Amino acid sequence: MKLEKLPEEFVQAKPVLEKIIEHGFEAYFVGGSVRDILLGREIHDVDIATSAYPEEIKDIFPYTIDVGIEHGTVLVLAGKSEAEHYEITTFRTESKYTDYRRPDHVDFVRDLREDLKRRDFTVNAFACDVNGQIIDLFDGLTDLKERRLTAVGSALERFNEDALRIMRAMRFAATLDFQIENKTFLAMCESAHLLEKISVERIFIEFDKLLLGQDWRNGLTLLLKSGAYKYLPDLQDSALEKVLTDLSVDFHFQNSEQAWAALLTRFSNIDVKTFLRKWKVSNEFAKFVADLVSAYELDSWDLMSLYHFGLEKVLLVDELKVAYGLKINREQAVTINNQLQIHDKSEIVIAGKDLMEEFSLEPGPELGKILKIIEEKIVKNELKNEQAAIFAEVKKML
Ligand code: ATP
Ligand code: MG
Repeated sequence: MKLEKLPEEFVQAKPVLEKIIEHGFEAYFVGGSVRDILLGREIHDVDIATSAYPEEIKDIFPYTIDVGIEHGTVLVLAGKSEAEHYEITTFRTESKYTDYRRPDHVDFVRDLREDLKRRDFTVNAFACDVNGQIIDLFDGLTDLKERRLTAVGSALERFNEDALRIMRAMRFAATLDFQIENKTFLAMCESAHLLEKISVERIFIEFDKLLLGQDWRNGLTLLLKSGAYKYLPDLQDSALEKVLTDLSVDFHFQNSEQAWAALLTRFSNIDVKTFLRKWKVSNEFAKFVADLVSAYELDSWDLMSLYHFGLEKVLLVDELKVAYGLKINREQAVTINNQLQIHDKSEIVIAGKDLMEEFSLEPGPELGKILKIIEEKIVKNELKNEQAAIFAEVKKML
């Protein structure tokens, strides 16, 4: 099969491939971008594979960066803008996965077939040459047409080599709206326990992409059906089922934080911070999600809660509440937010040092307490955010 027209992103990269070919090597577009072109989806990164070894690529191009040379990846800077930076990876095989997660070593090879064979699913194992000719060694085109994920080669072996592929299968099912071919699915179920050996950070990335997928219900259903959830930190099947039944069917998560909060609102007996620590997310992410879960528990908004959480989080929570079928007043948050005099402590017109000067106060807990009271009164609109008013209030307190 041949593409009628190369997509713009491939046209732009074409001179890079042609230069490699001029030097006597092979070069192809590979991976997700070829799959996405064939599906008529937008592409987000162009991966190039070549028979040239990393050192040979570095000899061909004047500007390169070793981004992952041990895996055979060199970044070629074909121009100034980031769009003209291309990751070029030498054809390779991966051998022996004794720890079920990373290949013990990669071998560079000159044969495209060897490289395509190591890829996870047939629809991820296409290559496309500079003329748009699609190389499809594993009948991925049929799977693509049937919207089906099929492991390349023996599914059981492939999941045993790298159990992350089990998560990837469910992630692609969610983002592409594909079904999983029978044998591949049975092998996923059989190998699911190997997920315990995969780093939680890598699992998080796949699970997170699954949740943000257009068809996250498909992904989550497969996570339950395969039993894979049992091997991920603290996931409760009853909670995941509730997410599927309770959320309105056409709902899509705005962002990751909202998605994780949506799950956590259905969990029973859970400490959100402990749960997220097990998933090894960043502190910033954990705080955001924990805030959404706490805010979700409030029945209505007031000045204090809007000040504390901020409008962005409050709107994400409102949206989630609507999706979970709760009756809420959707205007309330914006109306209250507009009544706030300040949205952050730094917007108070006086600072600690102003009070120290005016009232000859010493720094310490006493001053901190006064500032806290002032802040709260301003938020609740019991005090104007003006110097004279604040000084008068403090005078009363002293
Ligand atoms: P995305 O659209 O999310 O970028 P992708 O298919 O490009 O999806 P990547 O993680 O970017 O996925 O990987 C690029 C390609 O590398 C895949 O299409 C696949 O061929 C191969 N690949 C990636 N991870 C694995 C893996 N764990 N096992 C086998 N092949 C993999
Ligand atoms: Mg990719």
